[in-house]
Amino acid sequence: MAFCEMCGRESLLSRTKIENTELLVCGSCSTFGKVIKTNIEEPEVPKARKPQIYNETVEIIPEGYGKKVKDARTWAGLNQKEFAFKLSEKESVINKIESEHLMPTLELAKKIERLCEIKIIESYKEEKKPEDNINFRDGGLTIGDIIKLKDEE
Ligand SMILES: [Zn+2]
Repeated sequence: MAFCEMCGRESLLSRTKIENTELLVCGSCSTFGKVIKTNIEEPEVPKARKPQIYNETVEIIPEGYGKKVKDARTWAGLNQKEFAFKLSEKESVINKIESEHLMPTLELAKKIERLCEIKIIESYKEEKKPEDNINFRDGGLTIGDIIKLKDEE
């Protein structure tokens, strides 16, 4: 551990170019400049972060669920009232679902799937990229501006 040349905090330091001067600074101060070498006291750690892409599973109930539910219920030999009872739902709810006037909640849809061994939910993976992090170097404010702002206070 050593002390940051900008804020004095004891931290792992990065050799960072700030306003044409190379300084050994801590992680938070290094965001004000261009990092040349990270974790000076540690073995080299690749600093460049890969763009994080995470997959989000999206679950939807496509149209046609009403018929699927009705067919499965009929196949199981249940009337709407019996079927509703098994799902702890109102008969009117089942009626509306089967006529597609009401889309079941995912929770209810999953119950129906389990009960009838059918599939009414479709899931697909959505690829998302998180928004780019705000970057001081590209975002207008430089360490010089910050010092100027402080001086004006
Ligand atoms: Zn610092």
